[in-house]
Amino acid sequence: VSRFEGISVAPPDPILGVSEAYKADTNEKKLNLGVGAYRTEELQPYVLNVVKKAENLMLERGENKEYLPIEGLAAFNKVTAELLFGADNPILKEQRVATVQSLSGTGSLRLAAALIERYFPGARVLISSPTWGNHKNIFNDARVPWSEYRYYDPKTVGLDFEGMIADIKAAPEGSFILLHGCAHNPTGIDPTPQQWEKIADVIQEKNHIPFFDVAYQGFASGSLDEDASSVRLFAARGMELLVAQSYSKNLGLYAERIGAINVVCLTADAAARVKSQLKRLARPMYSNPPVHGARIVANVVGSPDLFNEWKEEMEMMAGRIKTVRQKLYDSLTSKGNSGKDWSFILKQIGMFSYTGLNKAQSENMTNKWHVYMTKDGRISLAGLSSAKCEYLADAIIDSYY
Ligand code: PLP
Repeated sequence: VSRFEGISVAPPDPILGVSEAYKADTNEKKLNLGVGAYRTEELQPYVLNVVKKAENLMLERGENKEYLPIEGLAAFNKVTAELLFGADNPILKEQRVATVQSLSGTGSLRLAAALIERYFPGARVLISSPTWGNHKNIFNDARVPWSEYRYYDPKTVGLDFEGMIADIKAAPEGSFILLHGCAHNPTGIDPTPQQWEKIADVIQEKNHIPFFDVAYQGFASGSLDEDASSVRLFAARGMELLVAQSYSKNLGLYAERIGAINVVCLTADAAARVKSQLKRLARPMYSNPPVHGARIVANVVGSPDLFNEWKEEMEMMAGRIKTVRQKLYDSLTSKGNSGKDWSFILKQIGMFSYTGLNKAQSENMTNKWHVYMTKDGRISLAGLSSAKCEYLADAIIDSYY
């Protein structure tokens, strides 16, 4: 009998499992709105031109495949912090930021969770309700206790701001507050600049530590600076904070696993100590990070020409998503008979839209209409084309009523 007899089958991942079900469906109308990956209007994966150019540069230079240091590629770490905080942010000159390249957004969050587990025993992380499903897995596996703060208000399909503030206030002093820097996943609902100020006030009052997850910089508004404004607002207050970054979406580097964890500290001395401990945590987990994506980012962000080209491509991607968002809204509204106010769709930002469809309705979307999506009612607009908006609107209206 197998020594592994006691191991039962794990449930499929609720997000990645959607793609598997989609692949198995033979209906030609099928639509995959499950995974948050950008697709062209022809619904094909997209490799950015600037990425191809950066890769060509790397080949020309004949770069080697030696190990990176534990903290990653120096040129990457420099530009990633500059991209996030702004190149002239005094916290960089003051060397108050510990930046460590890690395995994209997920790996960076996991490394930060390990730091919390080791140096803040018993501290809890507050996550939004709802949030990206993997957040709970990450903190569970790192043995960091977490609880939720209110975020989504089903009545308005908007932000429950009062609830959010009340829950952050009620959390034990010194908690970590996980915030989505922009383009909240799964709801697509972000706080306004005024609301961000208020959130920062409450976090400061309670001596909490803000912990940003920035997986969509540039992808929400189309502007890298605008999408970083929440993080910069906190940093400008002189607060200590954690920020996990990902280049999966904004540079389309999903499989390269490139991102970083940044810890903003009060002093350069504290930042150096934190960095040394992040390296110590990374070493037995994965030793050192992969080089390919780091070189791409360093080349793109570090070269004025490629950087400008990247901005144009990102605007194009964000623009396509905005276009289908508007088109979906128009299609839903023109069906008319429902009398439902669909304007929440236009207020949401980023790749995702929370439709307000419940579990049974989301199942109807898949079973009857072959529209694959997560059961929480989230659709990825990045997987939608203009041509399919009418069809999707029919499916949504049928499932709602
Ligand atoms: N955080 C959020 C909110 C996300 O939506 C994602 C990806 O879907 C990630 C982090 C991490 O993605 P990756 O590990 O590919 O960078």
